[in-house]
Amino acid sequence: MVAPGAEAEERELEAALRPRTLDDFVGQHRVREQLSLVLEAARLRGKTADHVLLSGPPGLGKTTLSMIIAAEMNAPLRISSGPAIQHAGDLAAILSSLTEGEVLFLDEIHRMSRPAEEMLYMAMEDFRVDIVVGKGAGATSIPLEIPPFTLVGATTRAGLLPGPLRDRFGFTGHLEFYSSAELELVLRRSALLLDLALNSAAFAEIATRSRGTPRIANRLLRRVRDWALVKGLDQVDARAASAALDMYEVDARGLDRLDRGVLQALCTKFGGGPVGLSTLAIAVGEEVETVETVAEPYLVREGLLGRTPRGRIAMPAAWEHLGLQPPPEAPG
Ligand code: ADP
Repeated sequence: MVAPGAEAEERELEAALRPRTLDDFVGQHRVREQLSLVLEAARLRGKTADHVLLSGPPGLGKTTLSMIIAAEMNAPLRISSGPAIQHAGDLAAILSSLTEGEVLFLDEIHRMSRPAEEMLYMAMEDFRVDIVVGKGAGATSIPLEIPPFTLVGATTRAGLLPGPLRDRFGFTGHLEFYSSAELELVLRRSALLLDLALNSAAFAEIATRSRGTPRIANRLLRRVRDWALVKGLDQVDARAASAALDMYEVDARGLDRLDRGVLQALCTKFGGGPVGLSTLAIAVGEEVETVETVAEPYLVREGLLGRTPRGRIAMPAAWEHLGLQPPPEAPG
């Protein structure tokens, strides 16, 4: 059982490991370079920066980048999320209390309600909202000016966003999974902050199991840190790191329980596919969006799962990884 407060401590540690400047932010060279230009130009013009849309799977650094944007612009940051904004009034309350130049981070922006979304269009473009007062024939709308602000929207997939909203962002950055070498850099930085001694092979071992995701890398590092503490190790080597990580549900290729569940269902229940995404999601007892935006991108990148017009298929590497024999007629 997790001790009370353990989750809060995990959150605190995660916050402590967040890079605070663009220079400290590992990898994502293109996005970083482009963003740096956008921010620098805004600074030189003495204006607030253009609205920024960040897309990519969870844990790749979208929230961290929004904090960095605010810090680099020397502006306060307000954090909210699509699911928290169910009514246009919720958004109006946030927008009307922004100060000039403030950065508003909206996580999961694709999950905002329709009326709120429409209010956001106008706010992004004209820094104005129309507040409707009253109902029916007596309803009137009161225009309200809002100070210029920078919206940073985050979404697991830019494709989930309606075109008119997507078009209102001046800059869109897509975050990619990190290479093992980049994750090693993230881990080295975190180990320094946590005052933890690991040898190079241990860093490499954790990096390959981190599913291309800094959040997972940091989480695994904390588990290795617990292991070292309990076992009284001064320095962690690859053997100790892999022994520690074997206890958690990440395999040698970095796949977690959901990833393996998807592959397992694909191979054993549907003979390797093709099978439709929603059928596959039902088979693993998950939301379609979770399978599509959390598990699938990594499985595709790893060459384990393929997307075809007729549905998802297991690639030869998937059968091999699960230790299963593909049927003779299996695709691939
Ligand atoms: P997202 O918002 O995309 O889900 P976060 O920004 O919350 O992801 O990042 C999760 C964690 O991963 C953060 O605590 C941060 O320490 C770490 N992290 C993310 N990206 C990087 C990076 N490029 N360099 C170093 N650490 C990173």
